[in-house]
This record gives sequence, C-alpha cells and structure tokens, in this order.
Amino acid sequence: MHRFKLGDMFSAIASTDFVYIATATVMILALSGCGGSSSDTSIASSCPALTGTPWVPSVSGASASNHNSSVKLTQSVLTSSGPIIGLNQGITSSVEIPVTIDMSQSLGALGSLTLIGETSGQSSQIAGDVFAFLVSLNDGTNEYIHMTSDCATNGLYLCSGGICSVNTNCDMDWTSSPNAYINRTKWEEHQGDLSSNFFEPSVNTFPTCNWTQGSGTSFAIPVCAFNSTFFTTVSGVSQLRSGVNYTAKYVLVANSYASVSSGYSAALKVTATAKTNTSANVGGAIDLNFILVGTNNINASRTTKGQQNLNTLATQVATYYSQTNANIKLGSVRSYELPCESGGDGFADATISQLGALLQKSGSVIPSAEATGSVNVFLVSSISDDTSGANSSFTILGVDGAINGPIENGTAVSGVVVSTFDSLDTYNPSCSSSVTTCPLSSYETDFYQLGVTVTHEMGHFLGLNHPSEYEGTEHDAIYDTPICTAQQSGLGFITVNSCLLNDTNQLASNGSKTCSADCPSSSYSTTTGSFCPSALSCEFNYVMWWTTKNFQEGSGNSDGNLFSVGQGKIMTYHPVVQ
Ligand SMILES: [Zn+2]
Repeated sequence: MHRFKLGDMFSAIASTDFVYIATATVMILALSGCGGSSSDTSIASSCPALTGTPWVPSVSGASASNHNSSVKLTQSVLTSSGPIIGLNQGITSSVEIPVTIDMSQSLGALGSLTLIGETSGQSSQIAGDVFAFLVSLNDGTNEYIHMTSDCATNGLYLCSGGICSVNTNCDMDWTSSPNAYINRTKWEEHQGDLSSNFFEPSVNTFPTCNWTQGSGTSFAIPVCAFNSTFFTTVSGVSQLRSGVNYTAKYVLVANSYASVSSGYSAALKVTATAKTNTSANVGGAIDLNFILVGTNNINASRTTKGQQNLNTLATQVATYYSQTNANIKLGSVRSYELPCESGGDGFADATISQLGALLQKSGSVIPSAEATGSVNVFLVSSISDDTSGANSSFTILGVDGAINGPIENGTAVSGVVVSTFDSLDTYNPSCSSSVTTCPLSSYETDFYQLGVTVTHEMGHFLGLNHPSEYEGTEHDAIYDTPICTAQQSGLGFITVNSCLLNDTNQLASNGSKTCSADCPSSSYSTTTGSFCPSALSCEFNYVMWWTTKNFQEGSGNSDGNLFSVGQGKIMTYHPVVQ
C-alpha cells in the first residue's frame, strides 16, 4: 500500500535554515486491501551499559500546586458499533452511529467538551485501518457540524483507478448555518489521518473558537459560531449549553477501500471529557513527561551538563507558556527513559513511519496513574522522513502526533517527538557549570531552536495550527493571528525575510498594521541582533510560526515567541490544561 503523508506538524532544516514543514494533506490510497503496516524495531541482542544517574527535573516555578482548582474533568466512555464505509461512500444517516453524552452540569466560561473516537474489532475481512469520523454534534438546539450535501452523495474522497483524492465538494456548509469548523481541512485534521501509517483516534474539542471578531476580508474567518450562536448564558456567563444530552454521530471509514459493501462492521468507543472551568481568565497548568529515547540520549541526560541543559530546556518552555495570553504554567515535570532493552535504540534515529509506534510506547513507559493530564515529549536523536521523499532535503526537528492531541496514553498520537541531535550533553558550552539553568545569553542557537521546537510542537498538541502554512495559502481559524502570503522568491514558501519585507496583509486586531509597518526593516538586523519580538503583525514572532526563528548568540536576542489572545483560549479549552 502506498500511503504517504506530508506532515502538518514537523519542523525541518534546509541547509542552514530550520523550517517547519506543513501542507494540506495529500492522499494516495490503494483500494486493494493490504495489511496494516508495521514498523517494529529490532531490539539489539546486547545493549550498551548506562552510566550516571537518571535526570530528576529541577524547573524553577514548576509545581503541582500550579494547577487550577476550579478545573474539573468528568469522563464517560460510550460504546456502540456500526457499519464500515469506504472513502468514496456517502455519509448518510444509515451509516451514522449516534452516542448520547450527558451534559447535565454547566461547564463555566472556559469549560469544554472533548470527544475521543476510537474503533476496534473490525470485520476480519477488512484490511487496513478503520477510522472514526465525527460528522455531527448536536447540543439539543444547535448542530455544530454542517456538512454539504455532496458528502452524503459521494463521500469524503473521489476514487478512480486505485487513486483517491479529496472530494472538494464535500466541505463544511456555511450557506445556511454556522459551523464549529471553518472548513473541511480544519475539521478533517481532528478526525485522524487516513493516510498515516498508524491508527489515529478522532479528537475534537469544543468550543473551537470564542471571539466576536471575524469575516470581511479575502482571508475571512467567519464570525465564531459559538460566540454568535451556539453559546448560551448561564448566570450571566456565556458558555456551552448544559442541562441536556448532546448527541454525537460518527461514521467508521476504512482507509483502504473506495466502498465497503454492507455487512462489515466495527466497534466504536467514544471517551467524552467534560471540562468544568469557571475561571474568568485563560490558563492553568500542564504536566510534562520527558521521555529520553535510546542509550545516547539517556546517557547524555545522566551527565551534569545534560541535566543542566534539560533543566534549561524545560525552563525555556515554561517561560514561553507563562506569557499573559497563554498563562499556562508547568505543573509536575517528570523524566522517563526508554532504554535499549525496551527497544529505545531502535527508535533513537526514528523515521516518520516509526513515530506512531514510538508514541504508543507512552502506554507502557508512563505509569497509568499519570496517564492523563500531561503532554509527553519524546526526545529522540533524529527524525528522518521515509514517507514521501518530498522532504528528503530537510532534517526534521520535531513532530507532533496530532493537532489537538488526546488525553490518553498508548495511542499513535499521544505526544510529540523532538530531535536532540545527540547534543544534550554538549549544548551551551559557555554556560557556567555552577548554575542549574543557563541564561539566554549562553544559549547556542541550536539549543534555542530545540526549546522553541518543544514549545511549538506542544502548541500543536494543545490544538493550534500554524497561523499560515508554509506555502502561505492556508491559514488558521484564529482571528488575531497574522496572515503572511508572501513566498520567498525562488523557494516557494514563506520566510521571516519575505514576511518582513514583502507581505502586505494587515492584522485587524493590531490596528490594521502590516508587518513592515509594525517592524520597519531599518530596525531589524540579524547582524546587530536587532529584532522586533513584540511586533504583533509579524507572523514570525509567534510560537506557531512554521519555521524557526532568528537568534543571536551572546545577546540572546531573537524573534518573538508569542501566543495571541485567541490562541490562549484554544489552548485553555484543551483538557490537559488544568
Ligand atoms: Zn508546526
């Protein structure tokens, strides 16, 4: 089977420039059945010895007491079963599987509902994977997902001659009703990636937005459906409807067939997490699990220098997340090892195809008592793209399992993976050995990028897209992040330079300023270390900018690592932020 994925969520280096690659999903799926691919790694018959003592994180300000006492999660598991359909098969009521969700309690201004949909037990004749797609969510008054009628007629994909491509007529229908998702792309990326090598659950968190601004320009973001229509007011506070049952409907899609005849079925499990959050302000705390993968990373983490760098890394992440718009602190920070004996060395220089199996290791590495409420950060030596060749000139810095990751370990998207380049014990040589964490002025550029990458991949896990994807033609659904469409001449993607000098898009939420007005090129110089880190109209000043940032060693000056107000709201809805 040919499955390839141009990842939405990995960063890469092209010659001297680190870039986060992102693109719309491209799918080519064979229709003939084939078994699910596997990427088992061989375990060396004899494993090298480990030296030193394991890293015990010491991160200033990180504390379990940072969690928000007004946040409470209520989980229910709903099960059902139903027919399997193919990619080119209509999404009609006869193939939709309903589940009922108890939403009796009010969730507060910043509460949310997260639905994780997983399949199992598919008919043995059905090869490949079967994915759960959330096609409807009704709160008793409002339908959150309005799909165009062509989805019912033709399905998600059009298949011919063994090749399936996106049915562009199957999209979110905005003609009569508001939608939780602004378009099909933004909806589909929450339903698992049909073209990936691994089964992925569907993960949807609502609300998907909460702001009054929107619409109007050529890059219109519609008025937020929740703010305009879906929210109800409880005790003067606008929030998700409560005191009722919600009905979610799923279809079960086989990723290896254009159509599946009747009689084939699979089981559906939906984990519904209602998050009560009566805070008026965004934020909370997240627990972080670092997983050191393989002998080299483990041994590096057991040196004095390695532990200083890891503490510094976690501190850098904490600093970015503590900014006002995010207001997310670190709770418990934990360290785990995936040693050679457990297959760690087979994942150390990981391929993209291996990452699902690596992230599934969270189910065995992380104690079940800590299974929810954390983001898992797997530190590997390197990541290479074995899936398409399109990115073969890049060295990948990091990959996130999914935009909006599940609060569940053991899945193929249960965390993020970041490359250390086997330098944990050698980064930052100018940093004094007497300090627990290094100051920015002694960061090496590559180390700085490591911290930005961990922060960025976690941002994906918490539900954020790039403000603009790398070609500058697709943008996130958040009203207050800037848009850049100015590709760098000859490169075909947007860069710090092209967005600084050539982009003409204005950011309405920042006084309709362009980046060049917000950051005149005369005040920007990588030579002198002059940047505009707080210029809101420049997309490269955001954590979720798709490429790495300019940084000057010594001064520690750099482009910004901002979260917008809207991004802070999206992350606050994620159930892992507590
Ligand atoms: Zn990214």
